[in-house]
Amino acid sequence: MSGVFGCFDRTGANDVSKDLYYGVFSLQHRGQESAGIAVNNGGSFLLHKQMGMVTDVFDEMTLSALPGFCGIGHARGGSDNSSGTDGIQPILIKSRVGNIGISCDSVILNADEIRDELKNLGAIFQSSTDSELILSLFSRNRITTDDCEHAILNMMKEIKGVYSMIFMTDNKLIGVRDPFGLRPLVLGRTGERYFLSSESCALDAIGAEFVRDIEPGEIISISEEGISSYFFDEDNANRVADGHICIFEYVYVARPDSTIDGTEIFASRYTAGQALAKEQPCDCDLVIGAPDSGNAAALGYADALGVPYGMGLLKNRYVGRTFIKSTQGQRELAVRMKFSVLKSAVAGKRICIVDDSLVRGTTTKHIIRFMRENGAREVHLRLASPPVKFACCYGVNADKVQDLPAHTKSNQEICDMIGADSLGYISLESLKASLTGIHCKQCSACFDGNFIAGKAENGGDN
Ligand code: SF4
Repeated sequence: MSGVFGCFDRTGANDVSKDLYYGVFSLQHRGQESAGIAVNNGGSFLLHKQMGMVTDVFDEMTLSALPGFCGIGHARGGSDNSSGTDGIQPILIKSRVGNIGISCDSVILNADEIRDELKNLGAIFQSSTDSELILSLFSRNRITTDDCEHAILNMMKEIKGVYSMIFMTDNKLIGVRDPFGLRPLVLGRTGERYFLSSESCALDAIGAEFVRDIEPGEIISISEEGISSYFFDEDNANRVADGHICIFEYVYVARPDSTIDGTEIFASRYTAGQALAKEQPCDCDLVIGAPDSGNAAALGYADALGVPYGMGLLKNRYVGRTFIKSTQGQRELAVRMKFSVLKSAVAGKRICIVDDSLVRGTTTKHIIRFMRENGAREVHLRLASPPVKFACCYGVNADKVQDLPAHTKSNQEICDMIGADSLGYISLESLKASLTGIHCKQCSACFDGNFIAGKAENGGDN
């Protein structure tokens, strides 16, 4: 999972790097492993990227060394088939047809097969990342096509997977959303400056107007000449309604102030909380949201039950998201660093914690223990998503199926494992109904096992 951001100034103003910085910074929640920005400075491509959070990677000096009228940025969360420095994006190459850069949020399911084919044709790879593979495939297709957009269309026919990508060429910024529309990508603008972003919250941060979601299977091309769109399936008039956005964007991934495919994230979480209260009420004195992604649902839950909603759990904002850490040991340490309980708020009370989801249960187990250590009389857990029974092979939740308690355990067994007095989940039907105004269908494979975009060639582990 990553955040991608791009900018093209059609007046040629050479100062897009600050907008890129604030855009990528606003997408930090999508990935905290590394960050990077590349710009087109009158035909020469400049790049700065390294491991770390956006604020660690950039300062005034690095940004002032990135003049350009067009650029791409990336915040990476450790997907793209590699961790460490290999996968830091953007990636730039010089091809026979010019400079090309890419910033992508992708999982290519047939990557091994395509890489082998390209190697047999003489291609050389320095890493096992999808981004390098996509660039190689794109530049090979570009040789036999009239323009970049048709090279991308051809490439999309070869790759199987999910992606939001932004290409930067010598004179264009090109955004691509996979034919399923599993990953979000939006278009924004201020005057003649155009933006592509994983989420609309990044547009708000830089004062840009939200124009629209990029459609599933759409290639949007921005240049000095104007903006044009191409479609993977030109004949499908229902491609928007046929799309399948990842439902976990609404549950956990996206920022609450973003709007994706017609639904505001905060509103959908609040509504899910209300529905959860109807389906899984709880006899409690105080409702607490597991910060931060459980807060909106907790508020809806408390309002619907007529029970006070309060602060009881504090989060240290300087620790990254726990479920992106690489090993179990790192994750447990991170939870201890991350949460503390307000004793005066919870002591002697029956607490209901509302969280967005239960993936491994590691974080929740610690939080419940902290609550009891601070005097909570009872601790109940309500979840604003159904049981996570299948591992996502599209890069959102990287757990193996055997690490997902809901795959094999009953509710009572999970309660015993995490130390909760009771446990309740929203139904998938109610979760979907909470996405009011949504334009498309949703992938919900981690709940129902229906992997709409297929699985990895090797069968995956889900
Ligand atoms: Fe999102 Fe789950 Fe589908 Fe993965 S399997 S894309 S997390 S809904």
